[in-house]
Order: sequence, then structure tokens, then C-alpha cells
Amino acid sequence: MGVLTAQPLDRVLDYKAPAGGCWKGAYVEVPLGPRKVLGVVWGPGQGGYDVAKIRSVIRVLDVAPMREEMQVFLEKTGSYTMTPLSAMLRLATRAPGLSDPPSMRKVYRRGAGLPDRMTDARRRVIAAAEDLGGLGLTLNELAEAAGVTASVVKGLVTSGAILEEQSPRDSAFPRLDPDYGGKELTADQHAGAEALRAGQRAGRYETVLLRGVTGSGKTEVYLEAVAEALRQGRQALVLLPEIALSAEFLTRLEARFGAKPAEWHSGVTMTERRRVWRMIGSGQAQVVVGARSALFLPFQNLGLIVVDEEHDTSYKQEDGVLYNARDMAVLRASILGAQVVLASATPSLETWSNAESGKYKRVDLTSRYGPAVLPEMRAIDMRPEKLKSDRWVSTVLQAAITDRMAKEEQSLLFLNRRGYAPVTLCRACGQQIACDHCDARMVEHRFLKQLVCHQCGESKPVPTVCPSCGAEDRLAAVGPGVERLAEEVTALFPQARVAVLSSDLFGTARDLKEQILKIAEGAADIIIGTQLVAKGHNFPKLTLVGVIDADLGLQGSDLRAAERTFQLMRQVAGRAGRAEKPGIALLQTYQPEHPVIRGILAGDEEAFWTAEADERRIASMPPFGRLAGIILSGEDLQKVFELGNFLARNDGPLRQVGAQVLGPAPAPIARVRGRHRVRLLVKAEKSVALQPALRRWIAQVKLKGDLRLAVDIDPQSFF
Ligand code: ADP
Ligand code: ZN
Repeated sequence: MGVLTAQPLDRVLDYKAPAGGCWKGAYVEVPLGPRKVLGVVWGPGQGGYDVAKIRSVIRVLDVAPMREEMQVFLEKTGSYTMTPLSAMLRLATRAPGLSDPPSMRKVYRRGAGLPDRMTDARRRVIAAAEDLGGLGLTLNELAEAAGVTASVVKGLVTSGAILEEQSPRDSAFPRLDPDYGGKELTADQHAGAEALRAGQRAGRYETVLLRGVTGSGKTEVYLEAVAEALRQGRQALVLLPEIALSAEFLTRLEARFGAKPAEWHSGVTMTERRRVWRMIGSGQAQVVVGARSALFLPFQNLGLIVVDEEHDTSYKQEDGVLYNARDMAVLRASILGAQVVLASATPSLETWSNAESGKYKRVDLTSRYGPAVLPEMRAIDMRPEKLKSDRWVSTVLQAAITDRMAKEEQSLLFLNRRGYAPVTLCRACGQQIACDHCDARMVEHRFLKQLVCHQCGESKPVPTVCPSCGAEDRLAAVGPGVERLAEEVTALFPQARVAVLSSDLFGTARDLKEQILKIAEGAADIIIGTQLVAKGHNFPKLTLVGVIDADLGLQGSDLRAAERTFQLMRQVAGRAGRAEKPGIALLQTYQPEHPVIRGILAGDEEAFWTAEADERRIASMPPFGRLAGIILSGEDLQKVFELGNFLARNDGPLRQVGAQVLGPAPAPIARVRGRHRVRLLVKAEKSVALQPALRRWIAQVKLKGDLRLAVDIDPQSFF
């Protein structure tokens, strides 16, 4: 039989079946050289080997076999992203200890006995255990549920009041009840939910764009699709772009379905991951909330994939296997015959145009839930403001903040730049301090008293002497980051409580969450934040959003600059006025006539997308044409460029399908961790089968030494 392993061999290996037999999809342990490795029986053997030399499968693992659908999915994603199948299998087996026997743990539950001496604490433990109706908890869980110390629980074991038992660690997830806590929906929401439920009942593949402004109840509506999947006995997956939000989200799901679903992302412990992987595979977890890699979990009966904030760039994996989880979700669902719901207030142009063309269905929620209304949006023209070069808050914005403070409402100032200042410049020689390993400038972080490279993470203390010319005390911070903005705001409003929300200022997701909760309860008057605040947090007292630099995303020539700015501004503005009080968003800009800024202010999203789609169509750019990026890297810049030039000259296989090569040019980040990076861009018509041509083209080169080549199909960031 043919066994695929996760080792980088790039082919299926032949093995003999073990004594007890073996079947397609079985997870097995096989010998490979001196080692034992994990593999999956992929199909019949290739043959052509000396039968006597073929080694035997060691054993079949005690996990549910990989379904045919998953094999097809891995093959298709591998071939689409031009990734070896072994690397795809690695993505699908990212759970530790799959080959271990299920380990046991001690659990505690109510027994028949009673202790000789009853105390208040003991009574609480017994009551808590009785509430569980025979279910066992770990020592700490039971102690916590009863509000006592672990020793009180232990003390009840001898009398038999509490039983101590071994139980498999990988326990099933509690059943979710689709009818537990549904909300009464508005007419609009009801119609949307009904459309999703009908699709779910039909049990066929479909993709639906669920569009609605922030706060319109998209989550409430797609949870109805999840409920329907549960009623149909199918599993559901909800992908979220930001794991910091998942705790809040799980609580919300608990309120809706009576129990918490499974959770899957990098912050989940190894043992819990193992449990989730196994329980998904045996159908004992019904719903998973997770990050993009949850897409590769071994669902047994997946009926629904929700991609929340589908336009979010974090769905694109930018190293290792370069895949876009949103697109791969659609692929997996189409193989399975499942439903995909893409939820967003500001969909990507790709999704929007797929809905326009009828490839995707579309459900619109047109208004915010309850009394909340969309904030009014206005530009502040910065040109007549004549601010000093180290000031960023205009007088108009200042006045608006003063007004909120008087009303005890909150203001949010948005600046998508972490740290104190993006540039540190020597006033004597003009040099900017750059990273030693990357072509990136070091960003000053004053809270950390460090210069940090946002590319590779390298950090060093802020020098007092210029590293280039040796001049003393001539280094100056140029430009604003959130920390510097906080300094200005504190000076302008000395009586205000100012909070800075930036991902680098919090040790853990939990610290961040706590801070956000405190702020939501009113612990700050002015919030200063990066992109982090644009996503899903709810601040009921917030009525003013000030965007410090609305032009920031429009610089550079990135294909998606306009789209991104539009999405981000709309999303940030959506933070204002979520409760009863109406909000306003003020955008500071030096180019109020810019079509994107005008599009944002006009609030006519359909017009903005139509115009943006027209431009891309004329240029044959995605989604109306196809792009692939080729990143070459190595330590010797000249060798990297030589390789790039060779590929550019030998473009026959691409020209055959009418595709065109651009470059080589330095990649967006031209040097990372000491390696030079060069980029080629391949552009083709939409209808072209690009991957086979790319394969033939790349096959012309043999990579020598430390040279590397990576293919990025549908690149997200470039130029
Ligand atoms: P979105 O996902 O579009 O941002 P949500 O589903 O999170 O919107 O809804 C915003 C807020 O309004 C949430 O607190 C949600 O619980 C509440 N909400 C939305 N619809 C209803 C409803 N029909 N009944 C009660 N509360 C609702
Ligand atoms: Zn660096």
C-alpha cells in the first residue's frame, strides 16, 4: 500500500500492510530509515519494487481514519498553492501526541457517602458535585466550582462522598443545544437567517456573502446557520481573524448554545489541541471556533464554515504554506457539499464581485441593531491647520475631544503605527537607524526603551550617540507612533485618562482582554489605538473616532491600498456610537479630494466598489486577472538576482499560456534576517491554468547552495 508521510520526500512510499490489515485513510506508524514516523494510507502501492525489501507498517493508530474528502482537499490545496503534499499533511496533523495511547487523568464526582463531619465548605463541594449530575471534573475545576481549596475536595474522598476516578483525558465536548438561547431577530435579520437556514437544510455547496455594517447583527444571523447545522447533525467551523477576540466570542456562543464549543489556535495548550483534533475526528465536538489552520482539522461531517471578517488580511498565511484560508474554505466546502458564510461589513473586492456575478449568494443587513446608528463621517482638511511638525492633533479634533470629555463620553484616536516614532534620524549626518539584518528602519518603542525592527523582531537599546557619525545627542524621533501621540494627547488634556491599545504593550492576550474590558466599562476618556481596536471590540461610551492620518494607507502603490484604506476607515468608524448615543468619525487628511477619501465620506459603498472593480478590470488585475509572486532569496544578492534574471529570460512556458513576467525587483522587504529577497511577478488572464505553466517554468532551475524559491499564488501584498 502507498503511505504518505509528513517527511519532505514528496512522494508516497510503499509498505506492507500490518498483521491486522489496514485500509485507505488509516493513520499509521511506519519505519523510515532508523526512525518511526506518522503517515496516512493514501492508496494502493506504486509497485515496481522488490517485494522482499518492502517494510511493513508498524501499527495502525487509534484515531478516526482520514476521510476521502480530506485527501482530495489536501491534494487540491497542495496543487493550487504549489505546495508538496507532505507539507499539506503536516498542516492536517498539527496535533501533538497523535500516536500516544489516550492518556488518563483523575476526575472527581459525587459518590453515595457522606463525611463524618459536615462543614460549610464540604457542603458546597457536595452541592457542586450533585449539580454535575454524575459528570466528573478535575480537582481544580471542582474546587473552583465550589469556591473551596483543593484540599477540601480531597478530604471528602476517604468517606466516599466524592469519588476519585481515572478518565480519558480526551473527553468529548458537551453537546450544544441549537435552541438554547436564540435572540428574537429583527425582520431584516430574520430574512437573512432564513436564507442561511434554507441553504443549510438543502445540504449542498453554496457560498453566501453576509454583508452588514458593524453592529447590524451578522453574528446573530450566522449563529442561526450554526444552529441549523447542529439540528441537521452536522459540524460547524467558525473562523475568526483575531485570536484575542476568541474568549469573548466563546462566551457569546455559550450563551447561545448552552455550552462552550471547541477552540483551535496557537494559544491553545498542546493537550487541548490533541483533544480537539481527536474529538473533531470522532464527531464528539460539534463546533470549532478557530484561526485559519482550523480549516485542516479532520471534521467527520462538516456542514458549515463561517469566515468572519472575511476581508481580513490575516487569513492569508504569509510564511510556510502560502494559502488564503478564505479561499481554501470555499474549496473545502465545494468538495464536501457544505455551506460557506463570508461575513463582513466591508467585503474584499474578490468576494464582492463574486456576489455581483452570481457565483456567491448575497444576504444584506441594512441597519444597525437597536437604536445605534452609523456614525456620521467627516474629513478634517489638515492643510489650513498649520500644525508644528511634531504635532498631529488638529484644533478641530481637539475641540471635538473636549466636547466629549464634558459629556463624559469616550474618544478614540486611531493611528496604525506601533511604537513611539517610525524613524530615528541623526540631525548631524542625516542617517536613519536601520536594522542590521533587514532593510527596515528601527522603530523606537519608548515604553520598552528599545529600538525594534518590526520585520525580524531584532531590538537594541536606544543609542545616545549616532551609530554612523558618532555625533552625540543629535538623534531625533521623526513621525508619530501611538506612544508619541499619547504624549501629545496627555499634554493637551492633562486631566484626561489616556489608554494606549497596541499589541506590543501587552504580555498576553488575557492582559489585553482585561484592559479592553476596563476601558469598555469607562476606565479611560481617550483611547489611542492601532489596527487592534478596529476589530470587533465594543465600547458603549465611545462616540468620537478621530483618524490621525487617513492618508497613511494610500501611500505606496499597492494594488489593494484603496480597498484596505476604505475597509479600515469604515471599520474604525464603526466603533463609534454602538450604544444609544450617535457617533461621529473625523478623518484627518491632506488630500480630501482623493477619490478614496471621498468614497469613504460619501458612504456609498456600492459606488466605491464599482469604481474600484472597473479600474482592476481595465488593468486585468485580480479578481479579473491572475497573479503569482515568486520570491527568491539567498545570502548573496548577486546570485539571487542572477537566478531572477535567468527565470525572466527563460519565460517560454509562461508565454505559451499568454502569461507575462515582471521583474526581478527587490521584494517589498528586500532583506530579512540577513537574506536578500527578490521578487518576480507573473500576470495572466483569468482563464489561464497558471500553476502547470509555473511548474514547467520553475523546473528549469536547480537551486544551489542557500538559494530558495517560494511561490505565492494570489499574493496579497506586493510592489
Ligand atoms: P455584527 O456581527 O454585525 O457586528 P452583532 O451580531 O455582534 O453584529 O450584533 C451587535 C450587537 O447587537 C450585539 O451585542 C448583539 O448581541 C446585539 N444584537 C444584534 N441583533 C440582536 C437581536 N435581534 N436581539 C438582541 N440583540 C441583538
Ligand atoms: Zn530586522
